[in-house]
Amino acid sequence: MVAAHGIHKHFGTLHVLKGVDLMVAERELVFVIGPSGSGKSTLLRCLNRLEEPSSGSITVDGIDMLSRSTDINAARQRVGMVFQSFNLYPHMTALGNVALALRKVQGKSRAEAEARARAALDRVHLADRAGHFPGQLSGGQQQRVAIARAIALEPRVMLFDEPTSALDPELVGGVLAAMRELREDGMTMVVVSHEMGFAKAAADRVVFMADGLVVEQGPPAELFGAPRHERTRAFLGQIE
Ligand code: ATP
Ligand code: MG
Repeated sequence: MVAAHGIHKHFGTLHVLKGVDLMVAERELVFVIGPSGSGKSTLLRCLNRLEEPSSGSITVDGIDMLSRSTDINAARQRVGMVFQSFNLYPHMTALGNVALALRKVQGKSRAEAEARARAALDRVHLADRAGHFPGQLSGGQQQRVAIARAIALEPRVMLFDEPTSALDPELVGGVLAAMRELREDGMTMVVVSHEMGFAKAAADRVVFMADGLVVEQGPPAELFGAPRHERTRAFLGQIE
């Protein structure tokens, strides 16, 4: 589904990604962990071309994401992304926020965009909040609106960059539950998060990154239970 090979990224003289390979199978949930500054966000941003890799190749569903001949907007629609900050428009309702991209990016009519937006909000259990403005929603509900906004575009893969880090602890569970349901529906997902409990319960594979490289990866029970590399052990030791 997603195949990234030999991804390098430089910011000026800073070499942030040093040849990352990441394969994600259809319906797989890959969880990415690693120290701050190891390049996790940069990798996700390269996968949907918010950043241009310095070199390497990325295909999603067999489509070359980096080719000049690939339409960048079409490519981006195949890859949905949810960030720590939800970035909803405060003057638009939840429904309006979700419908906006369907109208602007996909050129849907208002009626069709709103019907699809309602269905997406329903998937994150917010159908009854469609008419609320972001300021009238909790942080967790706002993040679920952001998830609805991404899934409404029917991406082939969803990327999550610390989706619960900005939330009060009591709101984290609802967002993780929405992500789990998405996974049960068969969505392919790459998740960067500190929620190790979620990784143990829901991830197919955990990838440990350090210093711009994938150090090791494996099923959660193996990677958490019997890490092979000293670097991984040190990192896991710190966070426990
Ligand atoms: P965290 O866990 O803190 O989110 P991360 O693993 O996501 O860290 P990145 O955000 O990918 O790390 O950053 C990797 C490195 O690249 C850092 O040293 C960061 O300062 C640098 N970096 C990221 N984006 C840029 C940019 N746009 N310009 C310059 N340097 C950048
Ligand atoms: Mg980051």
